[in-house]
Amino acid sequence: MRYTAQREHVVRAVSQLTRWGSLDPNGGAISVRTDSGDIVSTTAGGPLNHWDISTRDTIVYDAEGGVVERITGHAPVDTPLHLAAYREFEHCHALVHAHAPYSLAFASLGLGVPTVTTRSDLLGEVPCFTFDEAAAREDVATGRAEVRVPDCMRSRPESIAGYELGLIPHMLEQIGPRAGELKAHGVGFVAYRHGVFILANNLTAAVASLHNIECTARTALFQAILHGGIAGIEPDVLLGGLPAPDGGALGAAGS
Ligand SMILES: [Zn+2]
Repeated sequence: MRYTAQREHVVRAVSQLTRWGSLDPNGGAISVRTDSGDIVSTTAGGPLNHWDISTRDTIVYDAEGGVVERITGHAPVDTPLHLAAYREFEHCHALVHAHAPYSLAFASLGLGVPTVTTRSDLLGEVPCFTFDEAAAREDVATGRAEVRVPDCMRSRPESIAGYELGLIPHMLEQIGPRAGELKAHGVGFVAYRHGVFILANNLTAAVASLHNIECTARTALFQAILHGGIAGIEPDVLLGGLPAPDGGALGAAGS
């Protein structure tokens, strides 16, 4: 089995993130780029097996998504985003995705995760990327748009449509100008109603950054409780506002 050390690091990261409650059977993926350019990743079976995995449950694919070494499963559905991040960002060597509960509370409302601690200030902005997943699927299903499923995956083209037509273009446009930050710390974003993604220079930093984002999201939620609910959170992308307790609407200013 090739890349044993990297596979062990990926499995260790899975163990840490599940222990901290950030990675659960709803989804997620972890990958690292090796010095040769090959990518070691968890498989689509990770969440299905409740993250009870070993090094055999990791897959190695190349920079084009071709299989290098596959033992038990295929690459996860967000693999196109991992491939794009490694292709476009030279300082990105690890990527962690999780449906982590605290950041997902913000992502479910179309909100980025606010930085509310000195520690989270280190990571900078954690934006939320919103896109029309259903429209992307429809475009691919009807042939209006074409996407290529990498050989290391066993997904239908429609299932990667949201990544190819929505999330990846957002990532390249908004994280691209910040690519230099990857030399110093992880860079994270959340996908609307989906989960959190962290790009980093190495897997240890990616795991630490994900935990940092979860902690700031948790603290922001506690702040909101102290401040009286949603009004205590500064909305930045709430388009239509949320229903207020008195039947009115909370506008973009959160008033
Ligand atoms: Zn996911």
